[in-house]
Amino acid sequence: MTETSLPELSSAKRALREARLRGRYQAAPIVPRAQTGDAPLSHAQERLWFLDRMFPGLTAYNLVTALRLPGALDEAVLERALAEVVRRHDALRTTFHEVNGVPVQVVAPFTGYALPAEDLSSLPPQAREAQVQARLARERAHVYDLSAGPIFRASLLRLDAGDHVLLVGMHHIVSDTWSLGVFLRELGVLYDAYREGWDSPLTPLPVQYADYAAWQRSQPLAAEERHLAYWRRQLGGAPELLELPTDRPRARVPSFRGARVPVGAPLGVLDLLRALANAQGATLHMVLLGAFQVLLARYAGTLDVSVGIAMSGRSRREIEGLIGIFVNTLVLRTDLSGDPTFREVVERVRETALDAYQHQEVPFERVVAELRPQRSLSHSALFQVLFLLDEVAPAPAPAGAGGPRPEPAPAAAAPGGLRPETITGGQTTSTHLDLTLILRSSARGLSGWLEYATDLFDEGTARRMASHLARVLEQVAARPEARLSQLELLSETERALVLEEWNRTAAEYPADRCIHELFEAQVERTPDAEAVAFEGERLTYAELNDRANRLAHHLRERGVGPDARVAVCAGRGLEMVVGLLGVLKAGGAYVPLDPSYPAERLRYVLHDSAPAAVLTQRSLDGVEALFAGVEAPVIDLEGAEWADRPATDPERGALTPAHLAYVIYTSGSTGRPKGVAVPHRGVVNLLESMRETVGMKPADRLLAVTTYAFDISVLEIFLPLLHGAGTIILPRERAADPAALAEAIRAYAPTVMQATPATWRMLVSAGWEGAPEMRALCGGEALPAELASALRSRVGGLWNVYGPTETTIWSTSEAVRGDSALGGQVPVGRPLANTRVYVLDAASEPVPVGVAGELYIGGAGVVRGYLGRPEQTAERFVADAFGGEPGARLYRTGDRARWRPDGAIEYLGRMDFQVKVRGFRIELGEIEGRLAEHPEVREAVVLAREDAPGEKRLVAYLVPDATAPLEAS
Ligand code: AMP
Ligand code: MG
Repeated sequence: MTETSLPELSSAKRALREARLRGRYQAAPIVPRAQTGDAPLSHAQERLWFLDRMFPGLTAYNLVTALRLPGALDEAVLERALAEVVRRHDALRTTFHEVNGVPVQVVAPFTGYALPAEDLSSLPPQAREAQVQARLARERAHVYDLSAGPIFRASLLRLDAGDHVLLVGMHHIVSDTWSLGVFLRELGVLYDAYREGWDSPLTPLPVQYADYAAWQRSQPLAAEERHLAYWRRQLGGAPELLELPTDRPRARVPSFRGARVPVGAPLGVLDLLRALANAQGATLHMVLLGAFQVLLARYAGTLDVSVGIAMSGRSRREIEGLIGIFVNTLVLRTDLSGDPTFREVVERVRETALDAYQHQEVPFERVVAELRPQRSLSHSALFQVLFLLDEVAPAPAPAGAGGPRPEPAPAAAAPGGLRPETITGGQTTSTHLDLTLILRSSARGLSGWLEYATDLFDEGTARRMASHLARVLEQVAARPEARLSQLELLSETERALVLEEWNRTAAEYPADRCIHELFEAQVERTPDAEAVAFEGERLTYAELNDRANRLAHHLRERGVGPDARVAVCAGRGLEMVVGLLGVLKAGGAYVPLDPSYPAERLRYVLHDSAPAAVLTQRSLDGVEALFAGVEAPVIDLEGAEWADRPATDPERGALTPAHLAYVIYTSGSTGRPKGVAVPHRGVVNLLESMRETVGMKPADRLLAVTTYAFDISVLEIFLPLLHGAGTIILPRERAADPAALAEAIRAYAPTVMQATPATWRMLVSAGWEGAPEMRALCGGEALPAELASALRSRVGGLWNVYGPTETTIWSTSEAVRGDSALGGQVPVGRPLANTRVYVLDAASEPVPVGVAGELYIGGAGVVRGYLGRPEQTAERFVADAFGGEPGARLYRTGDRARWRPDGAIEYLGRMDFQVKVRGFRIELGEIEGRLAEHPEVREAVVLAREDAPGEKRLVAYLVPDATAPLEAS
């Protein structure tokens, strides 16, 4: 900045600038140390020294360049030039030692330098290139011994007389990108001079790196404290981690392996971004950082984005020409809240950056120590994403943007007479960060790399991210007035992929039939086949049909018809099945009242569902009291009152597949349990789709273990019954006890069984050996990878099935294979037939593959809504803007999910504070509300989160709306 710009500054800016100038020139100049010998480490060196001890063999801090030197080369002159550079810069002759527990640097005297050379000219040309790449890779992988040295390495590869490659490697502890520029410039100048027979034209260095380190260590604390106060304010309360959607979970100790993919934007975009920067009084660096942060915000689903930038740290003339590590990192934290326009984002970044520049003199290491004294090895502190920009022709800094410029990105620095060209290639790199964006602006536009930690990301993910960055740059350049929510990350192709391609699930199904009608058709085909068994008893298809018909006629006479609810309160057994089927045949919708549930909850459901009739078993305990005062007729499932009704299938009457088949109560997202009103059509579609999925045939026998109060029991009962197979109802006590359940599986030899992960885990942990002939369905909660693999080795087939009650039992399925569990996660798979799934952001727009959003489900399974709750129905069931069918609706699941690149859905948890405990969906808030009454509930919350079964007493209090525990224990 020039003095003439001073009058144009606002008074506030002027004050800042003056303060800065004072700050700079008040500090003591850097002078040569009085005594030679050991010197302290600078803060930056100390951090690298600690890292090197913590991770022996770490190569993430190797700075490697390969320079192609075309044309004739005087090797002896090159060697002399190199030697002179090594002589000039103490840093290149430094090693690191520990003295009394304190690291020190020791500079070795210059004793000459020999450049090792290797002749590759006898190899065929392709082999030479391969050797160059191999040498480059080896240099990158070189493990420096900081105490033995050398920490500077160079070697010459002779390809032929007119073609050489100079390989240079340094440890970051003695160098940085700026240093590399210094190195190349000096080398070029010296080479030219020596070739002409001149002496070195370079002026002697005023100080050495160790002088700087000693100076930095002697800085008055007060000056530092002023800066630290700023950083405490600025970074306090920032999230520990920018939670980018990774392909694999973060390792506790990372490998530091990295790779890079190209990224860029055409000149037209760059010009617009430059113009935007000018208009906003910002730098291109700020504009690009803003765009990058916008992308990161979208990916991480946050509005608080911290990105590191590197500052050259060469604010003092004495050190400008030194080789050494001066680069300092600043964290720029941008608040993207309030759906700003991109212009506003640039303004925010600009303000933040200008302030940060004023406080850059404090070493990053000190800021970290101040803000994050507890460090984690799994990710770097304060920021995990770095942005570097190299401007070939940087525009002048705007008013107020004082201090040195951001550190250049690694580039082929201005060469001397050698005219070297940087060799890239060798795509593997090493990185201590999650992501680094390296951009270079040139006359051709923006180009560079997105470097990523391969522990976390796959190449495809990095490529998508790079393409989305390009799209963001393009859009903000063209429309800086657009709000962030209006930026479209997805290309047309990607949009079509997630909206259409992966939702191509249309399939034929008997959409005009009701559940019981399909059963009746099966009775025709296999009247004598066993339909249902319970302990010693069994019913054939014909017998079951007979009894259900008699009951149905009786219910019809009691006024049951389409959409009328019939409460069914029955113990597990044949009557329960007769009851449910009888209600369907009568044209009504059953409402399960599992007698083992707390009376409080049953009363609530009874009242809320307003049934037209009640079916129960008089022999059950507590039934009298429960139904006392109920106005609807109470019918005994075991009684004789309907035994003489006709055994013929009732007429369909006004019933259609759009009428309700059952109403099942679930806690849902807020407050009291809601009755999910489920029509026949979705169930028919689901059962047809699942028949395909598991290959249900008449010979199959399914072992039913789930309470009929959960909708997954519908599959257990009716999937076999619609396809000529048998269902075996297991009593509750046997289903809940691992040994008894294992014994039942052995004795009945079912070919299909469906259960929750909790039940499967219970079996596996109890030493169940498995049933290789049995296909297993697992759903209702996340299937952990280790359980999946334990199960897979014990059964003949395994499916992870997913779905809320609101979209009818299951909506997606994944056939679990050995390689299903990418990164410890078994996906919930792909949409079932006639089902569509979308992963949408807060603005209801599809998110890119790999990015988390809320899962929405559409298609045949979407239910009518919540019984008698139009408002809550309207809130959770929304218009399907993507399906193309008029009137189609989507259910907002509240589940966080993302697409995997192969088109499978991965379940990531809840958007809200809902947890599932023993199959119940419960709001943590609901539980917390009861904390006052039940101090033990706090533990229950923990238990619920960590899914530790077996502690019944605590879990019991989590039953929704039950004031009494589920289990008395
Ligand atoms: P429900 O209505 O009781 O079936 O509960 C539905 C909820 O259970 C879903 O919204 C998910 O949160 C969870 N859920 C069901 N199946 C799975 C699964 N396979 N993996 C993860 N979560 C599941
Ligand atoms: Mg479900």
